[in-house]
Amino acid sequence: AQEQFVSIRDKPATTLDGTTVALHMNAGLMADLPSLEGSGAEGVGLFRTELQFLIRNQMPKRSELSALYSHVLDSAKGKRVVFRTLDIGSDKVLPYMKPNDEPNPALGWRAIRVGLDKPGVMRMQLQALIRAAAGRPLTVMFPFVAQFEEYRAARAELDKTLERETRLGHVLPETLEVGAMLETPSLAFAPQKFFDEVGFLSIGGNDLKQFFFAADRENERVRRRYDTLNVSFLSLIERIVERCAESNTELSFCGEDAGRPIEALCFAAIGIRCLSMRPASIGPVKSLLRRVDLTELRSIIHDARDRGEQSVRPAVSEWLRSRA
Ligand code: PEP
Ligand code: MG
Repeated sequence: AQEQFVSIRDKPATTLDGTTVALHMNAGLMADLPSLEGSGAEGVGLFRTELQFLIRNQMPKRSELSALYSHVLDSAKGKRVVFRTLDIGSDKVLPYMKPNDEPNPALGWRAIRVGLDKPGVMRMQLQALIRAAAGRPLTVMFPFVAQFEEYRAARAELDKTLERETRLGHVLPETLEVGAMLETPSLAFAPQKFFDEVGFLSIGGNDLKQFFFAADRENERVRRRYDTLNVSFLSLIERIVERCAESNTELSFCGEDAGRPIEALCFAAIGIRCLSMRPASIGPVKSLLRRVDLTELRSIIHDARDRGEQSVRPAVSEWLRSRA
């Protein structure tokens, strides 16, 4: 099925009205890396580092991690790789760590919360990343940031680690970009200063949607109840786009919905200019983006919202059918 997309692999995802959307891929295992070339992805928009921790039966050593990250950067051949620091807890429990018995793990002690409260593992991981990227660009993204202070604290940890590495005589990365995932609704309403300070943001739509609708992403009974194209959710995304534009902050969307063609189109229509998805979705998403006029779609979306519709999906599907 992928053959049909080979002809557009090296072409940009440019719409009929001239907007180009950058398409990146999500990864986490070494086996994902060959797709970087095959899929035509511009880079790795989300590297889920916890996967390397989850496939082992003991905590990986710093030297092992460093070798692994270095290999990831080698394979990327200069394309940007966004390393997301350890996102454990909730659905991702490390077999060699004491499980914490929490009534609501998704709302519990996870991701950056663990990293800030017990910084040992995060520091080790940051050191491994810095060493792997010696003399090359490094991009680090902190998961599950719910308030400005958490980003600042994580950033301070990273700066301290850089100082320590300098003292130890290690070569530092050539450049460093530091960003955060926006996956709790609270962060969308953070002070503008947060948007000014953060290096870039990536919307983690899987979690953002789960928290926005208060519907467990793992629970089949409620998971599909709320459409991603629900006008309330799209309004939230639009608001985030506006806030990033005010601060000139780079924004991407890296949840699973980025890889669903109709969702991807709608995100692009409301201003998202970078999407990160599983490699196999890049072809279908690009192919559709190249065939639409985003300005037209934007008014279809806004008209549906103004008519009071719950989701813009019927209107968008109808529009796509009428143009086929
Ligand atoms: C997300 O929440 O959308 C995301 C990309 O992170 P994960 O799916 O790993 O929680
Ligand atoms: Mg998430």
